[in-house]
Amino acid sequence: MLEAKAKNGFVQDEVCKMLYQSYKHLNKTYHIQSYGCQMNTHDSEKLAGMLSMSGFSPAASKEEADIILFNTCCVREHAEKRVFGNIGALKKLKDEKPKLIIGVCGCMMQQEEVADRLMRRFPFVDLVFGTHNLNEFPSMLKAVLDGERTSSIIEGCEIEEGLPVKRADGVSAFINIIYGCNNYCSYCIVPYVRGRERSREPEKIVEEAKALADQGYKEITLLGQNVNSYAPNGEKDGFAKLLYMLNDIDGIERIRFMTSHPKDLSRGLIEAMVRLPKVCNHIHLPVQSGSNRILEAMNRRYTREHYMDLVDQLREHVSGIELTTDIIVGFPSETEEDFNDTLDLVNRVGFSSAYTFMYSPRRGTKAAKMPGQLDAETKKMRLLALNELQAEHVRANNKKYIGKSAVVLTEGYDERKGLAFGKMTNFKMVYFPADKDAIGRFISVKIEGEQKNSLIGRIEGTNMSRDAEK
Ligand code: SF4
Repeated sequence: MLEAKAKNGFVQDEVCKMLYQSYKHLNKTYHIQSYGCQMNTHDSEKLAGMLSMSGFSPAASKEEADIILFNTCCVREHAEKRVFGNIGALKKLKDEKPKLIIGVCGCMMQQEEVADRLMRRFPFVDLVFGTHNLNEFPSMLKAVLDGERTSSIIEGCEIEEGLPVKRADGVSAFINIIYGCNNYCSYCIVPYVRGRERSREPEKIVEEAKALADQGYKEITLLGQNVNSYAPNGEKDGFAKLLYMLNDIDGIERIRFMTSHPKDLSRGLIEAMVRLPKVCNHIHLPVQSGSNRILEAMNRRYTREHYMDLVDQLREHVSGIELTTDIIVGFPSETEEDFNDTLDLVNRVGFSSAYTFMYSPRRGTKAAKMPGQLDAETKKMRLLALNELQAEHVRANNKKYIGKSAVVLTEGYDERKGLAFGKMTNFKMVYFPADKDAIGRFISVKIEGEQKNSLIGRIEGTNMSRDAEK
């Protein structure tokens, strides 16, 4: 593994320009397959940005692409099996199109032994790189186009500023504010593959948000493994202060953030959510378990009482707030009593949505070696029971909106359903009949029904002011 160099700007723009001159006229195309969380999705947008800058355009399908990139995630069990399976399936395509370039990157490749295994097992893969050397991609691509096979995994890095980004839509955009994680939850591989926490300078974030507003984006989502520990220069309550700065930007109408760690959620943040009209009334607050014993074994560093207290404060002060969460069932040594504590917490909070998972050991984490690993059947049964309970809460939560009006920022149009869709400020998804020109507009919708994870409505009025939202 190489040592990282400090990178405070996109130093490879010259390489991109060189590639552009050599390849633009050949109309080469790319396809990026992204796995995992929003951080990975946003990294894929940066890869797309560098490819566009180098003269490549998106392919209509994987089969038609000249370059295929897999941006991998290693958080879930079986991820490796799945990714290796999907890469293996490309062999046929590579045999038919020997000039096809296949690259693999992302968290999974940050684990050097996995990257080595992949390079050995699939000699037709041309380039491999980790999460920390994203900005070396243009020169690696150039090497491959010059006939080399290349791989580069570096450990630890400075924040990379100025990477070009090609975003998926023109309404809502992701902005990284903090990279890495210091928390070492005992089940999680992220701190090992994404490194220690590094906060971006607030001025750079504000600059990026202003540029997005100039391009017509109306909503930003601030990203980090734990946005609450955003602390440029170790500053206290840095995240709340950042929200105040972003709230002043003309053109940005909604500010979201993800993910929040309950142990770091400050009073200052709750106050900012109350005071700042553009900060949305939604929080994704992973609880992971309702049992104090399991929370301690997970090294989460909060109790269920603390979590419930945060929920009470948020509900008391932030009008119309909805909470979403992540929950793991079947953590090592979890008893029926522990699991019942989780069900009880779910009943008490009433999350509007929850990502639920069966615990799966990740190599290299503390929990993988803990005694009391549960059998698959027990974990499966618990997950089923939790999902059934959560589905009841989603239905009840949806029902409370029926007959009410809501302001939706239209994000897109679902061709299959023939409906436009967008979100309320509190993250509730709404589908409604409208033309594609509704995209990017605030629309007042009367909620008339619900389906599994979303609401159905009809338009009452268009071009609503954002002030009508909260
Ligand atoms: S807070 Fe915990 S679960 Fe989240 S990324 Fe960090 S170590 Fe993983």
